[in-house]
Order: sequence, then structure tokens, then C-alpha cells
Amino acid sequence: MTRMETFAECAAAHFLRYGLKLRERKKYTVDQMDRGTFFHAVMDNFFELLKAEGIQMEALTDEERERLSEAAVQMAKRDEKISRMEAESAEGAYRTGRFAGLLERGIRAVCDLMKRGGFRQEASEMFFSGYSDKELVITADNGSRMFLEGRIDRVDVSEEDGRRYIRVVDYKTGDKTLNLNSIYNGLSMQLVLYLAAAMLKDEKSHPGSTAVPAGMYYFSFAEKLAETDADASEEDIYKQWIKIWYLKGLSAADDLIAAKNEPVSGKKADAAQIMQLIAHTKKKMKETGNRITSGDVAPAPVTEKKRTACDYCPYSAACGFDRKNPVYGYRRMEVLEDKEIWEKLKEEASDGGQLD
Ligand code: SF4
Repeated sequence: MTRMETFAECAAAHFLRYGLKLRERKKYTVDQMDRGTFFHAVMDNFFELLKAEGIQMEALTDEERERLSEAAVQMAKRDEKISRMEAESAEGAYRTGRFAGLLERGIRAVCDLMKRGGFRQEASEMFFSGYSDKELVITADNGSRMFLEGRIDRVDVSEEDGRRYIRVVDYKTGDKTLNLNSIYNGLSMQLVLYLAAAMLKDEKSHPGSTAVPAGMYYFSFAEKLAETDADASEEDIYKQWIKIWYLKGLSAADDLIAAKNEPVSGKKADAAQIMQLIAHTKKKMKETGNRITSGDVAPAPVTEKKRTACDYCPYSAACGFDRKNPVYGYRRMEVLEDKEIWEKLKEEASDGGQLD
């Protein structure tokens, strides 16, 4: 999915990254990506430890949570790069320790929030692949097939009357909010695909029950959260932070989900609209697949509102795109209000706008 989103942003960036396999020179520091790896490992370890001990997150005592979250952090520190960083410099040890402390507080927030709702975590790092599920294969107009693959950080489920309500969570180390306009334009397809894949896998593993979309969210773990008043007590800091750690994204609007959800923030849509968004995203994936398989490698970055694909792109020295030369231009993405997007999706659905 990251590959498709990279192409949707700029065909040249996709070619340089996945065709020529160019990568930025790695510096020997704990960067954002390493923190992301550390964070994902801790959350996954914690879930696996809960499973191994047969404890539900909602029923955890404070002592159990502290013991297991500390164990999850220690297991993640066995990663070669993190442990080297911690051992070789005082700064590295400080940064790693500080981030580990933040993670333990984050786990507390996840557990406390889970207790306030009716969902339970069903899976961590759920892998899906078009190689095992034919519904996750996109066939381009020229017959080329693309096998969608990914790993969903967290899948939560709540059951009621034979229906299984599914929500997916993507962990981020930076601040991230769901942008409906980017999803509509096919620039941010990952979370929507995650929900579709989680529902598909759930229906296959629970024959006879119906999977219903409940929501798609980001859980942001920005380190800037640590910047709080130096005199604040641990409890004061935690009370301040837990609100920032609410799941952010798109929730199904019906009353049952609202009652089952812990406090979440973001947008709402009914289940039918979420299904329309999934159908539209699959259509966008097919359009992207058609362009990829046609050999398009031209530098053609998108711009959406004030953002451009070039803003954080590491390939500006290699792609030849010259912002000052009018021959080169950005592809300007349509900017629509949420209401207009839902109306367009409804029209598309009534026109039978489905994939394949
Ligand atoms: S710098 Fe801009 S034009 Fe060049 S590869 Fe990156 S996104 Fe594309």
C-alpha cells in the first residue's frame, strides 16, 4: 500500500524508490523510523504477553499492566540498533529511556481507554495478502495483477446479535489525522484498505457472522507529548495526555457503535458511507495500478491545499523536477468539503461504481 500511495503522490518518486531502489544514506542516530519500529514492537509484544498469560486488556490490574508493559519494552530493546544506541552514548541511553517511559504511559492509556468502551483487541500486526485472498488482488486493464499486502497494527472487535463490529487502528509516532479529501483523491488509501481487509478476514474466519465497519483510526505517539510542566505530577501529566491519545479517525455513526466506542475523536459516517468509501478506494487503487503498469515514471508531484509531494521527498536531487521552471507543474488535487465527498460517493455507488 505504501508503494501505491508513493506512486499516487509522484510517479518519479515511486520509480526512484521501488524501481532503482535508491535510499537516503542512513545516519547512526535513533531517527523517526527507529522510534516507529521500537513503538510497534512494544505494542505487539504487550499484546502477545497478554495472550500468553490469558488476560484480557479490559480486565488488567494496574500491577499486571506495569509488569507486562515493562517486559514488552525490555523485549523490544533487544533490537540490535536500539540496544547499541542505548549502550554507546549517554544521549542515546537518555533518549531511549525517555521514549520507553512514554510508551509505558501510552500502554496505560490504551488499556484505560479500552476499559471505557465495548471493544476488545482481536489482533496485533494482522498480516493480509492478495496471495492468500483473491479479493485483495487488483487486476489492471492490461491484465497485470497487483497483490495487495500489509500489516494492520491493531484490529478491535465487538459482537452483538451475530454481527461483528470491526475497527482498525494504525500506530503513528508523529501526529496524524484522517484527511477525507486525501482518501477521496487516492493519496491516502492505507487505512481504508486495512478496514476492508480486516472485515474480509473476519468474515472468512467467522462463517455465518457479518462483519460491520465500526471505524478506522490513528493512534498518535508524538514525542512532543513529553513536553509538559516540569512541576506536574505523574497523574496530572497522564490526565493531560490521555485526551491526546484518543483514537482519531472516522467512526461509524450509528448509536450502537457510539455506545460501544470509548471516547474517540474525528469524523463520523454511517456504515453504508464507509462501504462506499471502501469501494471508491478500490477504484482509485485500480487507477493507480493502471498507471504503474503503463510504465509512468515522470516527475509529476501532486499538490493538495498548501502541501506538495515534494515537501519531504528525499529524491529532489535525483528526479530533475525544477519548481522554478514553468515547464514542470504540479498536479493540483481537487479540494472538497466532506459533505460534497459523501454526496459524490453516493452518486458513484448508485452508478454501480464497484471494482472489477
Ligand atoms: S522531489 Fe517532487 S518531483 Fe521529485 S521525485 Fe520527489 S515528489 Fe517527485
